[in-house]
Amino acid sequence: MKYITRSFEETEAAAARLADTLKGGEVIAMYGDLGAGKTAFVRGLARALGINAHITSPTFTIVNEYEGRLELYHFDVYRINDPEEIYEVGYEDYINSDGVCIIEWAELIEELLPQDCIRVKINKDSSHGDDYREITIENSDI
Ligand code: ADP
Ligand code: MG
Repeated sequence: MKYITRSFEETEAAAARLADTLKGGEVIAMYGDLGAGKTAFVRGLARALGINAHITSPTFTIVNEYEGRLELYHFDVYRINDPEEIYEVGYEDYINSDGVCIIEWAELIEELLPQDCIRVKINKDSSHGDDYREITIENSDI
């Protein structure tokens, strides 16, 4: 499924639609440059799961945990030097849990992603304006 969004709020709304399809146990790999809107997408997803906490990228801690309709594990692997480092924070347990894992900068751990993961790709196209984003969601029910 492909969404065009023209604001932060529209990206949150697209994420909320994905959230409504989640049953637990999914891994969502996110792709997109700095400022693409990955964290915005996570915020929309989290809110739709009933999480009220303020979501920020866990760049230095690698993973943040939130409690909602489902547990949400928010990864940002931008700062890791070696893909294997994420095992030290318990990656294996998180991806095999009943919660939902969502991973910013998933390309940096591509070989460690489950093959059946949901992929969310966010691209800017400034020829359509600063706030224009194309969001492609692969391997999900939406
Ligand atoms: P990332 O996590 O990919 O680095 P963020 O979500 O932190 O990106 O930041 C995205 C920035 O782009 C925010 O400042 C947000 O307000 C802005 N923005 C503008 N238009 C959009 C859009 N359509 N979707 C998401 N964010 C947008
Ligand atoms: Mg981010």
